Amino acid sequence: MIDFQSILTSINKAASKEKDRGKIADYIPELAKIDLENFGIHLIDTQQNTYSAGNSDEKFSIQSISKVLSLSMALGLIGEKLWERVDVEPSGDPFNHLSLLELENGIPRNPLINPGAIVIADILVSQLEHPKEEFLAFVQNIANDDTIAYDVDVAKSEKRTGFRNFAAANLLKSYGNLNNDVDVVLDFYFHQCSLSMSCAQLTNTFYMFMNHGKCRRNNTFLTTTQVKRINAIMLTCGFYDEAGEFAFEVGLPGKSGVGGGIVAFLPNKFCVATWSPGLNPKGNSKLGMLALEKLTTETELSIF
Ligand code: GLN
Repeated sequence: MIDFQSILTSINKAASKEKDRGKIADYIPELAKIDLENFGIHLIDTQQNTYSAGNSDEKFSIQSISKVLSLSMALGLIGEKLWERVDVEPSGDPFNHLSLLELENGIPRNPLINPGAIVIADILVSQLEHPKEEFLAFVQNIANDDTIAYDVDVAKSEKRTGFRNFAAANLLKSYGNLNNDVDVVLDFYFHQCSLSMSCAQLTNTFYMFMNHGKCRRNNTFLTTTQVKRINAIMLTCGFYDEAGEFAFEVGLPGKSGVGGGIVAFLPNKFCVATWSPGLNPKGNSKLGMLALEKLTTETELSIF
């Protein structure tokens, strides 16, 4: 049997010695206040045994990781017609780039880059009576944890400086791929990105993606086909223009956020989350990627 605990302990030890910890995402001013020294890791296996090391219970802003959750909710609500408004191809571009959007007539490359997630936010705003409340309840329900909440200061902070997201939303609107007001859609989007969770809470939330759509209490949130599709999108698009590198080094589907979190999983085996706020130049957590590479190397587990 694999001794996950001793592997996580040694990963945490290596992380604490690391001098080059990457750079905090200061384009959202509220995130710039986070201490670069933080590192946490938490793993849950299919039998629901848990293992952790470092600051695995400290909450952080999950940012783009939330895009998988909004996609899941939207897919559950409107089904396959969602794919008429957003594609499923990796972009090879940074998460906030706009050039492809113009080239491809307002159809975002995939739902995990910003323009794609903004289209998904638009779908949720159209479908839900109280979008922010109902989306939060959806996430709390999957995680079976009603302490999960938005960090309103982070949402407000991003609203003040989210110029590129305003540009993306306006471009989508000009192509007819945004039905609601730009301000309303972005208010929802900034809130979803501000969801605050610990590594442990992230693995509870993402447990269903390694478990055929069933959460820890065995409730079904997604069909097997929907889960397979969302997992495929995480593998090919979950790390922006570093998705290839992540598959190459780590070999798991997953998703990162500029708050420094990464969640990844091996279907039918385990789900793991790391947090270290310093990012590499592609916007993915520097120590998080190193940690997960070490995990899959030492356990010899990966989807390949
Ligand atoms: N809220 C962030 C943004 O839209 C999310 C980006 C990310 O985590 N990559 O810029």
